[in-house]
Amino acid sequence: MPTGIYQRKPFTQEHRENLRKALKGKSFPHMYKGHKFSEITKKKLRQLKLGKKNPNWKKGITPLKVLFRSSFKYRQWRLNVLIRDNFTFQECEQKETNLIAHHIKSFDQIIEEYDIKTLDESLECEELWDINNGITFCKNCHKKVHKKLIICNAQSL
Ligand SMILES: [Zn+2]
Ligand SMILES: [Zn+2]
Repeated sequence: MPTGIYQRKPFTQEHRENLRKALKGKSFPHMYKGHKFSEITKKKLRQLKLGKKNPNWKKGITPLKVLFRSSFKYRQWRLNVLIRDNFTFQECEQKETNLIAHHIKSFDQIIEEYDIKTLDESLECEELWDINNGITFCKNCHKKVHKKLIICNAQSL
């Protein structure tokens, strides 16, 4: 038994005894709250599981998007769109250094249409790489586009 730290051992035992007695009590608002919270969490987890079983669940779409975005070809496409638009977004007067190449016809829409499941398939899909399907936005306006669904009606890049 280590010394020093455990010198208050009798105290600890007494404390434990008190706790044990307390746990036999009837009303524990703080514990009830904890229980309630964990039920909510459980519900969320159940919903997540349901989501994955749902046939409409877009299997692997997010990992594919991540791969797609980190590909060399995507960076080239993005650059080509920005170059064509002179690295400017003319709709808003704000000078933004953070420019985004947006797919007018969304990534999700295209990969669904061509039934693209892998990165290789996406790399071969001409429509995804057509710079005419790309448009330069500033970061702020790009967010608005996706929020207000002005141009695309699905999540896209
Ligand atoms: Zn976009
Ligand atoms: Zn803007």
